[in-house]
Amino acid sequence: MAKLYFRYGAMNSGKSTALLQAAYNYEERGHEVLLAKPAIDSKGDNAIVSRLGVVRQVDFTIAPAEDLLDRFLAERARAVQERGRDISCLLLDEAQFLSEQQVDDLLRIAIQQDIPVLAYGIRTDFQTVAFPGSRRLLEIAHSLEELKTICRCGRKAVFNGRRIGDRFVFDGDQVAIDGTEVTYESLCGACYLEESGGVLNRGWRPKLEFSYGDEPDADFT
Ligand SMILES: [Zn+2]
Repeated sequence: MAKLYFRYGAMNSGKSTALLQAAYNYEERGHEVLLAKPAIDSKGDNAIVSRLGVVRQVDFTIAPAEDLLDRFLAERARAVQERGRDISCLLLDEAQFLSEQQVDDLLRIAIQQDIPVLAYGIRTDFQTVAFPGSRRLLEIAHSLEELKTICRCGRKAVFNGRRIGDRFVFDGDQVAIDGTEVTYESLCGACYLEESGGVLNRGWRPKLEFSYGDEPDADFT
């Protein structure tokens, strides 16, 4: 049985480079792969762009509400027809932008179609809250692997600070693609808290609601 792998890290932890290396390793051994990414990621259009300068076109992009299992089966069939043999692996860049349902489909592809799925993405947004796709991957992937990068202070970076010019910002939409309106800097927890004035998760995550119908009373507190 094949597995679903989630390889996550902060910005600039070399996720695209690692993905392209993994694809190369498969192909060097004579295997075919499919590369995909969510259409929401406008960086590089339909290409995966590594910071080391390697650029490669994806085989398909995934629309926000698209049925990913159906799309995979169609792309797999197309690959078999065009290349004359089946694929051995599905690789996804920017997997944080997938929906929860699409991540569920990744698990179905791994288990029911017996194709290994390697998903690469960022764990949390600039307010330290998990992206929906990443949260689901953390919940159901067979294998979790952290790709590490270094903060400006030398510690391991785990968060993504959002900058407009030379100023860090902590309010705004969850998604703002790097290089278009804003830039990001990978930070360790200490440097993030220093820049944010001690604030984490500024207002984005919906409040948990009690499902018992009543306000919590003294028994709950
Ligand atoms: Zn730091």
